Amino acid sequence: MIRFFNGKILALNGNYDVTDHELWVDGDKIAYIGPARADAPAFEREIDLAGNLLMPGFKNAHTHSAMTFGRSIADDMPLQPWLFERIFPLEAKLTPERVCWLFKLAIMEYVSGGVTAGFDMYFYRPQSAETCAEYGFRNVFCSLNDTYETIIAEMDKVNSLSPLVSMLPSIHAEYTTSIDTMKEVLRVCQERKLPFFTHISETATEHAGSIERHGLTPTELFDSLGLFEYGGGGYHCVHLSENDMEIFKKRGLWAITCPASNAKLASGIAPLEKFSAMGINMGIGTDGPSSNNSLDMFREMYLACVLQKLSLGDAAAMDALKVLSMACCGSAKAMGLNDCDCLAEGKQADMIVIDLSRPSMQPINNIPKNLVYSGSKDCVKLTMIAGKVLYENGEFFLPDSPETIYENCQRIVAEMTA
Ligand SMILES: [Zn+2]
Repeated sequence: MIRFFNGKILALNGNYDVTDHELWVDGDKIAYIGPARADAPAFEREIDLAGNLLMPGFKNAHTHSAMTFGRSIADDMPLQPWLFERIFPLEAKLTPERVCWLFKLAIMEYVSGGVTAGFDMYFYRPQSAETCAEYGFRNVFCSLNDTYETIIAEMDKVNSLSPLVSMLPSIHAEYTTSIDTMKEVLRVCQERKLPFFTHISETATEHAGSIERHGLTPTELFDSLGLFEYGGGGYHCVHLSENDMEIFKKRGLWAITCPASNAKLASGIAPLEKFSAMGINMGIGTDGPSSNNSLDMFREMYLACVLQKLSLGDAAAMDALKVLSMACCGSAKAMGLNDCDCLAEGKQADMIVIDLSRPSMQPINNIPKNLVYSGSKDCVKLTMIAGKVLYENGEFFLPDSPETIYENCQRIVAEMTA
């Protein structure tokens, strides 16, 4: 067992209380959370928090991790030429080997930034899943196959690799997928009773295009096909109509917001305050590092708050506490990681330690608000996933060294852009 003591705990277990409790980890689970006890067992490791904060990790509920190749490779361009002239030609040069190294770089950024799980949509998923399992990083993959048989085969393969990785049926988006393929995915969702997630109404063009093609918005189209029978949701959801929001509410769907990517690509601002008022479930993701360009959940939380205030002209819009809860708990539940949302006995030990001695976390007036408004990746001192420490005090505990990962990614980018 591992003991965390002498610090503060923000469990996010239905409230925002900060306690001076201690926490024990047994294997991959939280075994105890509460006051210090005289009957404590022998611990294999005792981590003195020295007054710092233990809290649940952030879950990145929408990303394309291996797109690290495209970081700062084509910025400050309109969306369509950025995607069609710069990103797609490079993606054509990806191989499983390349994707795995590029994913490893993303894992480094995740664990050093307090991210304990990702919801990933990209190429070479079984190989990426093996990488995640090997690295100890928790990840839910979105299937991107065209037929019932290939989706099932890939899902079964990924789901059997490790408890850390799993796969859900998915498509890239309405505008890149035929109705026939959607029906294949539907068969999987119905047979296995699984939720369905995809990009939804990220841009005004996509939303209007769907109405032109099908006479329905993307949300209406998926709902009419039956894809949301077992829940699910959409990534981005910037341009949802009133009826779309009603469908989200009725079906208990998750709206996953990606504020940095939507701002950088000038796609718009998702109406989070409205979602919240309607009781629509919400999570947060970074989107890929080619469009963001960071995998930084602190920045996402900050932008989710301030863009909402700016768009509504209301400084009271989108309370930081709500957004913090979305990033840690909402995102986890959206991904189906119901044991990873908060700190409680029996939950997975997916936790981070925040260094409260960083200048940006001082003075201590309100820790949860500090996390959203002045916190940064810089404050992350330790990241644990399923009871294993992957990052601590600037050091990575991963199978490959940072130097090896950087060298390989640099080599791969040189090969891809040659
Ligand atoms: Zn995306």
